[in-house]
Amino acid sequence: MNRPYNFSPGPAVLPESVLLQAADEMTDWHGSGMSVMEMSHRGKQFMSIAAQAESDLRRLLAIPDEYAVLFIQGGATSQFAMVPLNLMRQGRADYVNTGAWSKKAIAEARRFGQVNVVADAEPAGFNHIPDQDDWRSRSDADYLHYTPNETIGGVEFHWIPADTGAPLVADMSSCILSRPIDVGRFGLIYAGAQKNIGPAGLTVVVVRRDLIGWTRSGTPSMLAYAAHAESGSMLNTPPTFAWYIAGLVFRWILDQGGLEAMALRNQRKSDTLYKAIDASELYHSPVADDCRSRMNVPFILAEPELEARFLSEAAENGLLNLKGHRSVGGMRASLYNAMPEDGVDALVAFMGDFERRRA
Ligand code: PMP
Repeated sequence: MNRPYNFSPGPAVLPESVLLQAADEMTDWHGSGMSVMEMSHRGKQFMSIAAQAESDLRRLLAIPDEYAVLFIQGGATSQFAMVPLNLMRQGRADYVNTGAWSKKAIAEARRFGQVNVVADAEPAGFNHIPDQDDWRSRSDADYLHYTPNETIGGVEFHWIPADTGAPLVADMSSCILSRPIDVGRFGLIYAGAQKNIGPAGLTVVVVRRDLIGWTRSGTPSMLAYAAHAESGSMLNTPPTFAWYIAGLVFRWILDQGGLEAMALRNQRKSDTLYKAIDASELYHSPVADDCRSRMNVPFILAEPELEARFLSEAAENGLLNLKGHRSVGGMRASLYNAMPEDGVDALVAFMGDFERRRA
């Protein structure tokens, strides 16, 4: 297939082999005579798909047994509310503000209790990560929430915050499965699926079982982690097709060599692009060197009047969705797991050519 390279921040590119397998199995999954979309979620066939996906994800992330893995709906945005509804037992939580997504999580949590912003990168323009030595965290907070990768600003933590005494909660929507992580350092991890996992409509939550059980009074059962955990994410009809595609993506990652292989490839891809940006006079990265994202690479053109031409010529060259988020402007190339290295090489070649021809 001759497909363009899709640099969208999400919904994002999926592995071509996954799409081909899904197409192949679309009308008849493994001789069942049915599409996965048409199967009962409680039937033997879908239950086997669901269990395989969970066990592959557990293997990929080396998730310890004391953690539940949930395959639910509502996107990461619902997690902005579910986290406080389930974990804010004393009504106080710590949040790190490193970008647009942290900010949304903070605004939602404020509806449910006292939010202490331990560090705020907004005054400097969300271009760095404040040093943890300067955070005003509290050991008696119900949890500490942070966003390891800010999809819009392109700011990424290349370290896990040191223990503050409060369980660590992470919105890994745009960096999950991009490299190995020590799940044991976290109380809860959540991610919308539409970047490194699969189709939109699925949300993955990994949570230490001892943290769930309590909910704020009046919390609907659909928003209670324990209810989902106890029912094996089948409290109601789960997003079956998205769960199935996620399972194919997990298999694909395992076949590629797991998260170590993903990490190496992701590092090479982002190094290639940042090197090209730093060597040029036209392109510029707005993010501090030590926290540049490997997944979402924003860049600014020194001559902003060239932006429209850059985007239209890029598209003509099969390089799609490079426009930055409307709130920050500029360009952004998202380089999730399924973006091949050839895609980054093609982008860098186009950028060099565009710069030489710009006059
Ligand atoms: N958090 C982050 C880091 C994101 O990138 C996004 C979506 N781009 C969200 C939260 C919101 O996710 P959803 O659309 O699944 O609610």
